[in-house]
Amino acid sequence: MLWKCTKEHRWTASFDSIKNKRLWCPYCLRILSILLRWLQLIKVETVFQINILMVHLI
Ligand SMILES: [Zn+2]
Repeated sequence: MLWKCTKEHRWTASFDSIKNKRLWCPYCLRILSILLRWLQLIKVETVFQINILMVHLI
């Protein structure tokens, strides 16, 4: 099945893998993991700076 997330990424996965394993968009998951790693590295504390990071990553 073809799926599309709120960020307009498209990927294929079976319905069971989405339903049972609760896996969602692999692109968003990757972006999120990169973002979390960045936040740990540079210790960003303000929402403003986090928003700038999101713009660069997405
Ligand atoms: Zn996505």
